[in-house]
Amino acid sequence: MIKSEYLIVGSGPIGVLTAQYLLEKNRKVIIIDNSFKKNKSIDRNFNLKNLDTKSFVYDFENTAYKNNKKILPISSKSAGGFSKVWGGTLNPVSKTEIKKMGLTDKEYFRIYNWILKYVPNIEFTSVYQSLKQNIHNSLDIYPPVLSVDKHAENFWNAEILLNKLLVKYKNNVKYIPDIEVHSINKKGDIFEVLSNNQSFNFSVKKVFICSGIFSSSQIASKMQNTNKFSISDSDLAIWPIFYFGKTFLPLNRSFGNLNRMLEKAYAMLIINLEQKNTSIKCQLYELSDESIKEIEKRLPVLYKPTKIFINFLKKRLFLLFVYKDSDHSKKGLFRIDKEKVYLEKIIEPKFKLSIFKFFTKFIKSKFLLIPFKYQFKSFGSFHSGITNLYKDNKNIYFDSKGQLPEFPNIHFLDSTILNFIPSGPFTMSSIVNCIATLELIEDEG
Ligand SMILES: Cc1cc2nc3c(=O)[nH]c(=O)nc-3n(C[C@H](O)[C@H](O)[C@H](O)COP(=O)(O)OP(=O)(O)OC[C@H]3O[C@@H](n4cnc5c(N)ncnc54)[C@H](O)[C@@H]3O)c2cc1C
Repeated sequence: MIKSEYLIVGSGPIGVLTAQYLLEKNRKVIIIDNSFKKNKSIDRNFNLKNLDTKSFVYDFENTAYKNNKKILPISSKSAGGFSKVWGGTLNPVSKTEIKKMGLTDKEYFRIYNWILKYVPNIEFTSVYQSLKQNIHNSLDIYPPVLSVDKHAENFWNAEILLNKLLVKYKNNVKYIPDIEVHSINKKGDIFEVLSNNQSFNFSVKKVFICSGIFSSSQIASKMQNTNKFSISDSDLAIWPIFYFGKTFLPLNRSFGNLNRMLEKAYAMLIINLEQKNTSIKCQLYELSDESIKEIEKRLPVLYKPTKIFINFLKKRLFLLFVYKDSDHSKKGLFRIDKEKVYLEKIIEPKFKLSIFKFFTKFIKSKFLLIPFKYQFKSFGSFHSGITNLYKDNKNIYFDSKGQLPEFPNIHFLDSTILNFIPSGPFTMSSIVNCIATLELIEDEG
């Protein structure tokens, strides 16, 4: 029997910030994850980052299948979760989107600023400032807020905060990295965590499930004894974009007062496009060596004719990562059969919105959108959420505190319980939603 006050499943950004929230209130927590799990095989077709290092953040055994082929979504298996491989963009979403998430601006920004206290961050302002002078403000632009450590060398990941908590609150926190959760039962006052052919008993007041959208959806399905669920997505496409104005690339990429350079590709600018109460968030990336290799592989039509001009183009050609919200993105219907998850159907969004509608806005700012988009496969943006469970043709809903019917005190807190996925990197919004839910749980006792 393992005793504490709260059990947190998962040590990604959601699990670790949940732990931070509870520990600073002097509560006792146990954090468990499946980070000791070994991949039996690695699927190189996925083209995910981190492929050449020995440990993998991705759980290649826990993906979906289509026609017997492994496809996305995939679960993470790592202390720190997917933040170990992320781009670390932390920008808040627009006000229209905060409203759609069911939060007030005041609530969103209070929690957003609280999170920033624990996630080191720097505003990358150089590109923003020089473009602001050049383009007469015809585009709504923002400097990216990046989760860069204080030496501006590495992107932060949630394991760093986890390790800090294990030292600072050593009497109140325990961490067990080798429990893979399949389902959770309540037996009297005890929570029984079912894992691979074994179970663990926890004597806690509440359980918080933060194992990432794909794992959490499977855990929720097992708890409700159903094999059907859906997940919504945030579609992502890359557009090459040509800039013909006065060059804006800074000679040294300075972060705040620091003049260090990051080797990793990072977003240089956020562009917000608004239309009819809808916002599309774009990230502008430089044509780095990493991205040139990607273009060669994914867009050979574009790569071959441009190969000889690459040095000239490096200053002129950029990549625009365009994210859509869940109202304008696809949704996947999944079925669990003998422990495997199959993607049964992709549901197209009701509303379509093309970035090309904003062509004149870009041109006025001296950006030419090139009509060759590379569309990421569904769930390839890793910004997915809004789980719906289906049983006997009925929907099963999470309540406002992330609980499923018949399972009081087991709360889902990750993007599973979002009701809207904002466009653009959404982890900060997902953490805001998690902390707002925790506050509600605390208020109602
Ligand atoms: C390449 C890439 C780039 C990204 N870039 C950005 C970005 O720039 N900005 C942004 O906002 N977001 C970005 N994201 C998305 C971001 O990483 C995720 O939104 C975020 O990590 C989700 O946090 P989470 O805690 O819900 O889940 P995860 O990070 O997936 O963490 C889940 C945790 O639960 C554990 N776990 C999983 N299943 C089980 C199980 N069955 N039992 C026990 N433990 C389990 C895992 O080991 C892990 O510790 C990116 C993602 C990727 C992959």
